[in-house]
Amino acid sequence: MEVDCADSDIDSDSHYNNTDNNIMRKITLIIVHCSAVRPDQQSSAAQIDTWHRQRGWKFGIGYHYVVRRNGSIEPGRPEWMVGAHCVGHNAHSIGVCYEGGLDIRGRPADTRTEAQRCSLRKLIEQLHAAYPKALIVGHRDLNPMKDCPCFDAAEYADLQP
Ligand SMILES: [Zn+2]
Repeated sequence: MEVDCADSDIDSDSHYNNTDNNIMRKITLIIVHCSAVRPDQQSSAAQIDTWHRQRGWKFGIGYHYVVRRNGSIEPGRPEWMVGAHCVGHNAHSIGVCYEGGLDIRGRPADTRTEAQRCSLRKLIEQLHAAYPKALIVGHRDLNPMKDCPCFDAAEYADLQP
């Protein structure tokens, strides 16, 4: 099973040449994703890390956070590091991914559990507090070819800048 949602731009050292990692990136977008797995499939941050390394991404997991079905939030890349989850938008965004997004037949669906919906919102509230000027969007809002994250980010309208 492959997660076909994440997108790397250039996953190379050139993205990380800034030797002063204390200087935070300018974040203009908080992008929500799903991991594109069916209800009978797991996608922990560790599993996604493995998938993304198998794609040749030397920094592993392309997302900054993963929200599991039980509501637990697992860290991915540190926020200061450019992610690999949305072509053309990685440099200035934080990528958040919930586990799921496909129904049992593999069709796009909002499969978030109640715990997951709650944790995802809490995480986005925290990110909104840290980056109050960043727009909160779903992957599909930036790339119409995608169904990800299989729900309308308008549910975060109250958190928008
Ligand atoms: Zn996505």
